Amino acid sequence: MQTDLLQEARRQAEICNACRYCEGYCSVFPALHAERAFSDGDLTQLANLCHNCRGCYYACQYTAPHEFDLNLPQALANVRQDSWEELAFPKAAGKAFQKNGLLIALATAIGFALLFWAAKALASQGGEGFYAVLSHNAMVAIFLPAFLFPLLSIGVSLRRYWHRVEARPLKLAHLVQAVREAANMKNLKGGHGDGCNFEDEDRFTHARRAVHQAVMYGFLLCFASTSVATVMHYALNMPAPYGLFSLPKLLGLTGGLLLVVGCFEMVRLKLRSERKLGASGAFGGEIAFVGLLGFVGLSGLVLYAMGQTAAMPSLLAIHLGAVLAFFLLMPFTKMAHGFYRLAALAADAQRKG
Ligand code: SF4
Ligand code: SF4
Repeated sequence: MQTDLLQEARRQAEICNACRYCEGYCSVFPALHAERAFSDGDLTQLANLCHNCRGCYYACQYTAPHEFDLNLPQALANVRQDSWEELAFPKAAGKAFQKNGLLIALATAIGFALLFWAAKALASQGGEGFYAVLSHNAMVAIFLPAFLFPLLSIGVSLRRYWHRVEARPLKLAHLVQAVREAANMKNLKGGHGDGCNFEDEDRFTHARRAVHQAVMYGFLLCFASTSVATVMHYALNMPAPYGLFSLPKLLGLTGGLLLVVGCFEMVRLKLRSERKLGASGAFGGEIAFVGLLGFVGLSGLVLYAMGQTAAMPSLLAIHLGAVLAFFLLMPFTKMAHGFYRLAALAADAQRKG
């Protein structure tokens, strides 16, 4: 990892450890105050516990022009971003995509092109609905590896993370606690429960927590929709297409709407926030990733709405192309932060005993 970023985070963590003003702000400070010296692993763990709410920056009496020049949200964001690049598997992909919005857009365009090619070259013989454009077998051949690869990649990265932060073997109780905290996003409420001032220095709101929940639950509902459809296809011999009031459609519609609204609001909040408090140079990559995720939801909804028209084959290729790019990029874009954060919460639960 980059030693200058670690050194700067260490300098600031040592000042915070002496100051202790922000004790109750978030889970970073109790973990920070438990240490006397900060190893690279400690700083990686603190960085991944931080969710960049910026509350400590706006409360701090030692920010510039004070000579201490405290900017803990950015110091931790830089270490966090660097850890995602370093721990990625393969590492070169993490370094290439994490901060590069242009490459993310290019990968998405390649996804579109690949699906248009597949629809033409692997045209279905006699399938129904979407399977008339691309056979079920062709879809499985494309998407099964695209689904398994990110799982493998993220699994390797989390294992590396666990070693980096020198955590002990994982216990189920710590994992359950981490999942519970991630599910209700408790830390995004701020230490006082009034939310955070991410988008506005003087105003605490729950907006960032709400949009994170919309995106996370929207994504999970879309995933549940695909999973239910898979069970219906293979276990119940009920192949697609499904009606509007079927479970896969209801889950997918609700999830798609949450995803689109959540991503739109997420971009709006990011555009209003102070960039100097986030990771240096990562803004383009973050916006491109949220844009891609929102586009996956939007293109899915448009496909639902226009699935019976002549535009369906093109819309299907565009939607599946975006989904393909999203899955393959998952370990190397901002999406990875959800997995690292879960690991950091589990390691923190272990620390607390
Ligand atoms: S961020 Fe500033 S006020 Fe908060 S603990 Fe650190 S030095 Fe103290
Ligand atoms: S930015 Fe928020 S989450 Fe991060 S250390 Fe400061 S108060 Fe904690």
